[in-house]
Amino acid sequence: MKCENGIWEFDLSDKSSEWWEETPETQILIQKVGEFDTYNIFSDMTFQEGSLTEKMIKCHIIRDGKGYESIIDLPPELSMFDYTMFRFSVEPLEECEGRYDIWSQRLTVTPENINNDSIILHEMIHLHESVLMALPIYYHEAVMYCLYSELSKKIPNLNYIIETSAHIYNCEDMAQIGGLHDMLFLLKSFDIDLRFGCALGTTYGYDMKEQIKKTGNKAV
Ligand SMILES: [Zn+2]
Repeated sequence: MKCENGIWEFDLSDKSSEWWEETPETQILIQKVGEFDTYNIFSDMTFQEGSLTEKMIKCHIIRDGKGYESIIDLPPELSMFDYTMFRFSVEPLEECEGRYDIWSQRLTVTPENINNDSIILHEMIHLHESVLMALPIYYHEAVMYCLYSELSKKIPNLNYIIETSAHIYNCEDMAQIGGLHDMLFLLKSFDIDLRFGCALGTTYGYDMKEQIKKTGNKAV
């Protein structure tokens, strides 16, 4: 990924040839990412068929008096999306358990967290958000809207949780200790928690789980 004149450019090239030079621990990480891929957890973030966001790219076309269902052409960052566009590594990190580096398109977890699904999924949200960053902001907003409208049916008091965590004071605080975690990130982490039957805040990490417990909120 590079940024020129304020425009992010995503590197679509296949990096899987680099994977084979990685350590056995990294091979395990790559395998785990592949397993999560088979569950279609992130299909909404790439606007795939059957996902929550599919409705945002579907069109009804009328031609010669006849109606047709169609979908709009997606940019290559989404239509060609594949984890082979990324690098992976397992190595010690300073003061964090996982990291996604947008410049090298590399997802890293520490050796102690190679089997920690929450950490891997947390970093995978960062990975997918980086793809959306290279696109016009309406892609990001479409994903956020679809997640919000779905989760608001399942999480009572979702607005209160968002208002608290998206408060600028909290965002600035979080940015200093753990980087950018925006509203889309928060919603996607809740979506993953619900899919896996985990307590809300598990995938987000930090002290989100404890904060949510204080609100007395439970998913329904
Ligand atoms: Zn993070």
